[in-house]
Amino acid sequence: MSYAFTDLSLQLHDIAASGLYRSRRVIDSPQGIHLKLEGRSILNFCSNDYLGLANHPEVISAFKSSVDQYGVGSGSAHLICGHSSAHHALEEALADFTGRDRALLFSTGYMANMGVISALLDKQDAVFEDRLNHASLLDGGLMSGARFKRYHHADIQHLNSHLNNAAGNKLIVTDGVFSMDGDFAPLADLSKVAKAHDAWLMVDDAHGFGVLGEKGAGLVECVGLSQADLPILMGTLGKGFGTFGAFIAGSDELIETLIQKARTYIFTTALPAAVADATSASLKRVIADNWRREHLKNLALRFRTGAEQLGFELVNPVSANTDVKDDMLSAIQPIVIGDSQRTVAISEHLLKAGYLVSAIRPPTVPKGSARLRVTFSALHQEQQVDQLLDALNTAINQTPLDAD
Ligand SMILES: *Cc1c(COP(=O)(O)O)cnc(C)c1O
Repeated sequence: MSYAFTDLSLQLHDIAASGLYRSRRVIDSPQGIHLKLEGRSILNFCSNDYLGLANHPEVISAFKSSVDQYGVGSGSAHLICGHSSAHHALEEALADFTGRDRALLFSTGYMANMGVISALLDKQDAVFEDRLNHASLLDGGLMSGARFKRYHHADIQHLNSHLNNAAGNKLIVTDGVFSMDGDFAPLADLSKVAKAHDAWLMVDDAHGFGVLGEKGAGLVECVGLSQADLPILMGTLGKGFGTFGAFIAGSDELIETLIQKARTYIFTTALPAAVADATSASLKRVIADNWRREHLKNLALRFRTGAEQLGFELVNPVSANTDVKDDMLSAIQPIVIGDSQRTVAISEHLLKAGYLVSAIRPPTVPKGSARLRVTFSALHQEQQVDQLLDALNTAINQTPLDAD
């Protein structure tokens, strides 16, 4: 339904009436497990800074000394005069880290996804997307003009049936770790299906990078997919890496094609060089600090065990057909509540008690599956997980279904 320009206030009213109104919280502190909000210190369980690197002293000092060297603004797009040796060094480090020929930095993950999909496809082609993919992947598919098919979440059979009827170039696109569920795409099976149909596979591992794999190279490292198995790998830098930006990794020809054709690469200002240098510092911590990944997994496991005992509805960490190891867990452990208004009421109750947990509602998640998106950081302590479980138990029990 579309509202007239003169009816925006009616629209806002309707959004609020359905429990879907969004508003921002103003934070007065660095990112971390404690945030300062309206003069209070609250415990943060909703950030994507999974490894606790956003405020790490080495990352901060790399940023500061890079500002001394390069200044703040990058001055132009990468193709004009904005591509510094800081950007270039980070791209080489990311290519090495992911085991790909090359990597290309984008200013945001949203732009990387829009840029890649629309640079590779046009209306003769077809794109296949998991229905729970991130908005930027869906938007990239729509913007490309290719025939657009969604398949049921992690459902290889359903994907196969779409592929059987397709023509032109075929691109299969999936989140690696799903952003609102925290479960894993069946990557090995997806790669096999792609090969069987001469399709390409693209994985967006925004929530796996840094968090999963021996050296933190994400779900793709765990499953062991080479560049030949997985031609297009996308990662973001604003989550596990704690900084900002994103990259695409793949073959030399892919990267050169993007430089020529990806509009969201060509027509936008390059990231500040200092962000690239800060990210290079954070990449070193990602690789070296295995304890962050280990601890994060233990926190997620402790939470799941406690939540199951309390009878909360968790999302299964392992999708059907997947081949990942049983003990793999992501940092995202949502509790499904269902009703949007009730989810918001529980989240507000938690905030009063000093815990920040975000209520995720449609259209970010399917209707009827509103949830508390609990996320962990390597900086949390086990005892804080127990405190959260207690607070959740109280908040859920004291918030009946018809709460407003
Ligand atoms: C956050 C996210 C993005 C967007 O990345 P930004 O750098 O924040 O624009 C893309 N894909 C997924 C799966 C994400 O979770």
